[in-house]
Amino acid sequence: MVYRSHIFLFLPILLLICSFILSLFRMAWECSASSNAALVRNLNLAGIISKPRVIEAMKHTDRKFYCPHFSYADSPQSIGYSATISAPHMHGTALEQLESKLQPGARVLDVGSGSGYLVAAMARMVGKAGYVKGVEHIQGLVDLSKKNLQEDAKHDPLIEDMLKQKRIEIVRGDGRLGSPQDEQFDAIHVGAAAPDLPKRLTEQLKPHGKMIIPVGTTFQDIFVYDKDAHGNLSKKFLFSVRYVPLTDPPSDYEDM
Ligand code: SAH
Repeated sequence: MVYRSHIFLFLPILLLICSFILSLFRMAWECSASSNAALVRNLNLAGIISKPRVIEAMKHTDRKFYCPHFSYADSPQSIGYSATISAPHMHGTALEQLESKLQPGARVLDVGSGSGYLVAAMARMVGKAGYVKGVEHIQGLVDLSKKNLQEDAKHDPLIEDMLKQKRIEIVRGDGRLGSPQDEQFDAIHVGAAAPDLPKRLTEQLKPHGKMIIPVGTTFQDIFVYDKDAHGNLSKKFLFSVRYVPLTDPPSDYEDM
């Protein structure tokens, strides 16, 4: 009798714990698929991406070239060097937010470019007259992303041409300082969290430019910054996130 009453108490608690754990993973499961096309369709159905140019860019940027394991899972995946490729819903959100500035001919900076996925997707949006630069501080990831882009380029003459013309470039550097060439961009994506908005990045944003960046330490918020014609910045809060921080390169990877 006593034993049965324990079960009645235990079962609802177990169900509660299970549904809590499930809810934690729901975001990651929601859009997961078994092909790139299905993943992009799910992101669209979930309302994460809706702009036709974003949908096209993501359809043509097959994640299998940038994320060899669980390519179409809507969750971050390891790419080595203690780094991860961001989840598809985060890539989709960034492209949606920057879309108005990812116009043909635009110049774009991707800070913490990791796998190179977003560099490729943004290159498809700015096209052959555009320019996309990735800044990554781990040499192994600079090399890996270049290799990934070359694989992608085998299936798309646009990416092949942009790589040849140096309209897609990945450089090693401290992304907190923006482009080492100190130039200006129409759009800046930051893929790791900064404790405060890095000044150099705001300086490298053109008037009318747009930047998306996670800001914060333990708790981080994603902000979209817009620069007006006079260089004044305004910001919009999107949502809270957990990103890896922008750091010094780990010493064991320094020469890799
Ligand atoms: N957006 C990328 C990677 C996101 S993970 C993708 O989806 O593939 C964050 C990346 O930022 C990692 O590759 C990490 O090495 C890089 N990073 C962290 N601090 C950095 C810094 N100070 N300068 C440049 N890159 C940095």
